[in-house]
Amino acid sequence: MGYDLVIVGGGIWGSSAARAAVAAGMRSVLLLEAGIGLAQESSAKSGGILTDLLTDPGDQALVTRSRALYQEAVDAGGDRSIMLPLGMLTLAEGESVGALTRRRQDLNDRGVAFELLDRSEVALRHPHLDRLADDAMALWTPSDCHVNPNAYAEQVVAQARPQGLEVHTNCRVERLDIGSAQPSVLTESGETYQASRILVTAGTWSRRLLRTADLDLPLLPYRVQLGSLQLAEPHRLPLVWHLASDVYLVPDGEYSLLGGDGTRLSESDPDDYQQTGDEEFEVNVATQLLQLSSLGDRAGLRSSWAGLAGGTPDRRPLLGRVAEGLFVACGDNGIGVMRGPAIGELAARVALDLATAPRLRPDRFPPDPFEIRAGFTLE
Ligand SMILES: Cc1cc2nc3c(=O)[nH]c(=O)nc-3n(C[C@H](O)[C@H](O)[C@H](O)COP(=O)(O)OP(=O)(O)OC[C@H]3O[C@@H](n4cnc5c(N)ncnc54)[C@H](O)[C@@H]3O)c2cc1C
Repeated sequence: MGYDLVIVGGGIWGSSAARAAVAAGMRSVLLLEAGIGLAQESSAKSGGILTDLLTDPGDQALVTRSRALYQEAVDAGGDRSIMLPLGMLTLAEGESVGALTRRRQDLNDRGVAFELLDRSEVALRHPHLDRLADDAMALWTPSDCHVNPNAYAEQVVAQARPQGLEVHTNCRVERLDIGSAQPSVLTESGETYQASRILVTAGTWSRRLLRTADLDLPLLPYRVQLGSLQLAEPHRLPLVWHLASDVYLVPDGEYSLLGGDGTRLSESDPDDYQQTGDEEFEVNVATQLLQLSSLGDRAGLRSSWAGLAGGTPDRRPLLGRVAEGLFVACGDNGIGVMRGPAIGELAARVALDLATAPRLRPDRFPPDPFEIRAGFTLE
């Protein structure tokens, strides 16, 4: 006798999958997480931006569903930090202005609230953005949010426990066994758990784990960096994304901003990568803040860090069956928090034969090398 479903990896995707499996009626679900708590890896290191600006219709639908699931978690537990409607200002100048104006029709068609602002209007509303280029324009999307993946994961798992979810943290799965009549996972500490189905949501470790069952995936981990900027005076900025430099700013309290700048598009090893930001990144983020705002004159970089994102050839997740009884959901492409609750839910429903996701099939590409491309773009 085993579990109905064993989920390996308790980041935001795995936690959401666990909640969805229980919500779908499964009464024996086990979530195994290697870390000491849920959502402590890439999920904890993220900037937490949730935006409707993604261009792929599939991604847009996942963001919409995730927004609803984040809201459900807020309503259930009362923790408003799970989703804060800060709004986002996407700044463009020169050649990048076209990318903003081209979004108008799509946003209109989808009923997403937005305003297109010129430089003087931006300055009026956000006096701290006092160093914008003369031709600067901005797209204001008031319903974009900051989300807290860790608080979300804790909340949905707490809701699911009384209904049949068992959670083991500090429990690293070493091997998947799909050769026997019932698939099983073997942990580092020697336990074996059998299940009717196994779902791997181990983020950028998923490929490594699948290889223990002689399976492979087109998944390339790459570094994404963020820095914490300490300000000398309080700010009231919303989320800010500067298209020309690809730098984004995330409010982190009155005197602090998180700053990120996209990615290092080369492969990294999930068990051995530089977990602090590199010097080039730190200089770039500080310089870009200086170029946008006089807040930068008296700001200091408190710390910087790097986490991993999982790149896929077409920047869509790899989600679905990989062998009899074995399913996977990975390949976040750096935008897995804004889509995470919905992806986790879909992965659980696919694993339980309650949904299909043919566009995301993990075998749609061979596991060959490919060029990693940033996921958070207006392309
Ligand atoms: C610096 C940075 C900024 C980012 N900013 C944003 C943003 O603003 N918006 C956005 O949408 N996305 C952002 N992202 C991306 C986002 O963080 C990820 O897409 C998301 O966290 C992926 O969630 P996950 O659950 O798939 O992975 P993870 O959170 O990494 O979860 C995978 C889990 O699996 C566990 N695990 C691994 N191997 C095993 C094993 N063998 N046994 C048991 N457990 C195992 C790990 O411990 C981990 O907890 C950012 C990422 C980084 C690094």
